Amino acid sequence: MTHFADLSPYAYSESETPMLNVGWLEREHGYPTGTPPQGLTEALAERARNTVDVHRGMHFCRLCPDFETARRNTSRGDVFLGSGEIHVTGPGGIYASPAMVVHYVEAHSYLPPKEYCEAVLGTVAQTGPRSSPPVARQPLRARGGPGA
Ligand SMILES: [Zn+2]
Repeated sequence: MTHFADLSPYAYSESETPMLNVGWLEREHGYPTGTPPQGLTEALAERARNTVDVHRGMHFCRLCPDFETARRNTSRGDVFLGSGEIHVTGPGGIYASPAMVVHYVEAHSYLPPKEYCEAVLGTVAQTGPRSSPPVARQPLRARGGPGA
């Protein structure tokens, strides 16, 4: 896997939508650690159930002490973390993380940027066209108006 600094422009694969990198960790590079906001790991794990498939093959945690450990950690319960990306829409745009970010937060004390945490937890009002709720269509009524 490749290292990208948090909140740097996403450039791994071609995307029509600008995105920001979060959680592309490598052992050789430092990364911020701390106590994540309550519920972050679970919220990320839920999102990891529906990753964006970018056809990049398997990847393994480079922070685990050895390959055997890393291999065990390609899954968390019944959620597979070894491929795909989690895309989260937040105030700063769309964040692109490897599904492995769940493991980084849970096992390696990785603390993602605050704006990312808030977007994952849904504690900020999301803006932007992609996050607008679909306009609810009024059901067609028989002529004569409501109240029939
Ligand atoms: Zn690990």
